[in-house]
Amino acid sequence: MEARWRSSAKPVQAPKTTKTVSFEEVSGKASSSEALPLSLHLTNAVFFSLFFSVVYFLLSRWREKIRTSTPLHLVNLSEIVAIFAFIASFVYLLGFFGIDFVQSLILRPSTDLWNSEDEEENEALLRKEDARKIPCGQALDCSVTSAPIISAQKVVDEKPVKLTTKEDEEIIKAIVAGTTPSYSLESKLGDCKRAASIRREALGRITGKSLSGLPLDGFDYESILGQCCEMPIGYVQIPVGIAGPLLLNGKEYSVPMATTEGCLVASTNRGCKAIHLSGGASSVLLKDGMARAPVVRFGTAKRAVDLKFYLEDPENFETLAVVFNRSSRFARLQGIKCVIAGKNLYLRFTCSTGDAMGMNMVSKGVQNVLDFLQTDFPDMDVIGISGNFCSDKKPAAVNWIEGRGKSVVCEAIIKGDVVRKVLKTSVESLVELNMLKNLTGSAMAGALGGFNAHASNIVSAVYIATGQDPAQNIESSHCITMMEAVNEGNDLHISVTMPSIEVGTVGGGTQLASQSACLNLLGVKGASQESPGANSRRLATIVAGAVLAGELSLMSALAAGQLVKSHMKYNRSSKDVSKTS
Ligand code: ADP
Repeated sequence: MEARWRSSAKPVQAPKTTKTVSFEEVSGKASSSEALPLSLHLTNAVFFSLFFSVVYFLLSRWREKIRTSTPLHLVNLSEIVAIFAFIASFVYLLGFFGIDFVQSLILRPSTDLWNSEDEEENEALLRKEDARKIPCGQALDCSVTSAPIISAQKVVDEKPVKLTTKEDEEIIKAIVAGTTPSYSLESKLGDCKRAASIRREALGRITGKSLSGLPLDGFDYESILGQCCEMPIGYVQIPVGIAGPLLLNGKEYSVPMATTEGCLVASTNRGCKAIHLSGGASSVLLKDGMARAPVVRFGTAKRAVDLKFYLEDPENFETLAVVFNRSSRFARLQGIKCVIAGKNLYLRFTCSTGDAMGMNMVSKGVQNVLDFLQTDFPDMDVIGISGNFCSDKKPAAVNWIEGRGKSVVCEAIIKGDVVRKVLKTSVESLVELNMLKNLTGSAMAGALGGFNAHASNIVSAVYIATGQDPAQNIESSHCITMMEAVNEGNDLHISVTMPSIEVGTVGGGTQLASQSACLNLLGVKGASQESPGANSRRLATIVAGAVLAGELSLMSALAAGQLVKSHMKYNRSSKDVSKTS
């Protein structure tokens, strides 16, 4: 609250700009003081003096009337004026100090959940799961934290792209007219930034829509060419928060999370604290194999079965592995699992892929094997290199059961007093909630790999920060969270089992500057020098560790909310608590 009042009085210095931007400009809110002819301090002083003098005047008049036995409702002109002045100054002072003060007390969550001690914060955390569905600002007052983001956009907006050259103007006109395809700009101009700015200007003219707010400057467009994004016109800014230190397998990690969801980083941070105070978490990699499953068709089911038996015969594995592994020095075939649907065969190849997430690598290996098989099975008709039995970016039981990418289990024993003091709940409540929500509730919902509270929240935020494919959060978020009371019921054993974490530290978006910086922070940037695959495997264990922290914190908030709710129900029955959770 302090910061907010100071912000409204003083201008805020926007980063990287010479222009000073006031808080009202930054937040887009008009201050009531802007409408006043006097300065804010002077106006406040005038209304304060007015308020106290009329109160003094009215009280003395009241005393006089009681002394002289004059009826109180008989008022003269000076008293009428004083009453109006009283009402006006009261309304002003209430509006200026009262409403914001009350709102900030009720709505503002603490930014440091590690030190949270009071019940208000438990309530804020309790509201978190629902608040996530509402844009930031409707559920929580995010005005202070959002200011730097908006001001950063202002910096970009202050430098509009100037398209002054005649040549550029000609190209824009050609794109608008449809005589030059927009996608050819990079190759024609040989300058990716210029291509993006020309495309953006043409798009603005074609659609008549403003792109103000979508930055163009400050990004290396060469770095995405042919790898990450086609036909760029700018980039979207996502704030990166930090949760941690996460103490995992004896090492501390500061976990970067790119998100626009308030409370998510703070909550994960609180989970990290609980894990740290309890001696840390440990995680074990169970499997590491990316999968790709082409679909091939034969004239008869019998021929499809012939190929299935051939591929599954251990005697043929060596030959197939040699053919497959030619695709890359990092790809190593692990196995082929076949399923039949009539005369169609789905061949699920699994291979290790070093530090790459491995989709390209596995696809190349599969292509090599298909080409090789064509000699012995000339009647094999390759319908598609991906037949959805892989299964990529879709919820599928095959990934939940067999795993895809890295399969990891991560566990921690959280001490009883940490559960009480940091997580503000009890071991018993957490175990009960986990059983009824994550296990039974998800079973009732017919969940597929969704036996958790919000694994996908953490997975997506870490994926975006570290340049992973965010669409793979679908199977990467498959997770079962287990909780059990241990050490005679005093402590909590929590684990997350995640069979399909698909991550890489080379290739794709991982080489971009921001994402690469986040990987560097975790100590897993690029290819591992010690052993190929060590970086991506460690990243998978960190993802699981961060999910463990996120599960612990949200489940505790919910469990504590249950306590708060019943506490309020039985002690403050006049309040409608059903609307608080
Ligand atoms: P993906 O297969 O995840 O889509 P790419 O197609 O970009 O990723 O493949 C990764 C590239 O990085 C390959 O060309 C591979 O040879 C190279 N590479 C270099 N070092 C490694 C490593 N340690 N592990 C895996 N790939 C590596």
